[in-house]
Amino acid sequence: MSASVQKKRIAIFGSTGSIGTQALDVVRAQSDLFEVEILTAQTNDELLIKQALEFLPNAVVIGDEAKYTKVKEALASHDIKVFTGVSALEEVADFDTYDIMLAAIVGFAGLKPTLKAVSKGKLIALANKETLVVAGDIVMQTALENKSPIIPVDSEHSAIFQCLVGEARNPIEKIILTASGGPFLGKKPNFLVNVKRDHALQHPNWSMGAKISIDSATLMNKGLEVIEAKWLFNLRPDQIEVVIHPQSIIHSMVQFQDGSMKAQMGLPDMKLPIQYALGFPNRIANDFPRLQFKKYPSLSFEEPDYKTFRNLGLALEALKTGGNMPCVLNAANEIAVWAFLKNRIGFLDITAVVEKTMEKIDFIKKPTLEEYFESDGEARNFAASIMKL
Ligand code: NAD
Ligand code: MG
Repeated sequence: MSASVQKKRIAIFGSTGSIGTQALDVVRAQSDLFEVEILTAQTNDELLIKQALEFLPNAVVIGDEAKYTKVKEALASHDIKVFTGVSALEEVADFDTYDIMLAAIVGFAGLKPTLKAVSKGKLIALANKETLVVAGDIVMQTALENKSPIIPVDSEHSAIFQCLVGEARNPIEKIILTASGGPFLGKKPNFLVNVKRDHALQHPNWSMGAKISIDSATLMNKGLEVIEAKWLFNLRPDQIEVVIHPQSIIHSMVQFQDGSMKAQMGLPDMKLPIQYALGFPNRIANDFPRLQFKKYPSLSFEEPDYKTFRNLGLALEALKTGGNMPCVLNAANEIAVWAFLKNRIGFLDITAVVEKTMEKIDFIKKPTLEEYFESDGEARNFAASIMKL
């Protein structure tokens, strides 16, 4: 690569997480192509400081205000701006000095900064699926108006995106999202009722943050991904199918009008879709381990167990209902997963909390952004009240 090529300046929102740290591995390995402009973290000040000292960004955000002074002092001898406080993420998302936002904050907290970057027409490498689950209509409309490309990082959506390259004129008949099935594939409610957090955190194929690991175990993750896919690829609910594929080698598939199907494959490693999103439209040479078919003599596929893993059905219902329902589903799920991680509720209670919250919160057909925030708050309060938090 010639030295005259402008490096892409990356803003990593959620740099201390599973996606954030893997993104920094990609940047480190491709330092002639990328440089870091912004790093943000909620609580992990030590890792944020370490990252900032290595990558020397223009600015960092530490969400936890109690840690501001420590971060500020640690970076004092470098020309790095340090921010904290409720509007800090939006403030740095508003900078003109970066090219790509990697949206890797977990949960609803990612919505505001991502929407700010979208409204500035930035290229978004989107890991934070909750942003689209909550307010997909507003985010996609704002992206269209500001010509902000949204490149998915979620492996399934990256797979579909890659299958669609060169197919702009060809309508999608349907997409097939693959799901590993998580650590409890094949288990029934009599087993799940006693499942504890540490077991649920152990995903067979992927190593991820705590929230998405629990979502994968309950299949809520696949439900959120169906909603994410609807917005990213402008699909009707009946065009999205879910299939369990325990080996996680086919990351997803697209079927076209002639019945032909394309699949994208690879070893389960998030660095691949992260690198693809940052490098798009180029594929960048790397030394990641290669998929060898002989090591996978059989790839298998089965129907999800909707009766046992009811979260998937609840998410599909929220998608069909539309309006603020996916936002309510997401909020109730976030707080229920949080409670499960704190050993405050059981595994199956997560579904019960989501279901009851969806029944309770007033339906709004076409919410404004403010109404999405209100629905999120109401759903959290109600979910917390039934869990007696
Ligand atoms: P994680 O928990 O490992 O990291 C989350 C990051 O967000 C951390 O840097 C943390 O500091 C920051 N953060 C947490 N709460 C915050 C808040 N309230 N305000 C601001 N920042 C906050 O999560 P992860 O596994 O890296 O997942 C990040 C996102 O990517 C999620 O939306 C997840 O669904 C999606 N995703 C992750 C994977 C994966 O392999 N980990 C795969 C596909 C999609
Ligand atoms: Mg995924």
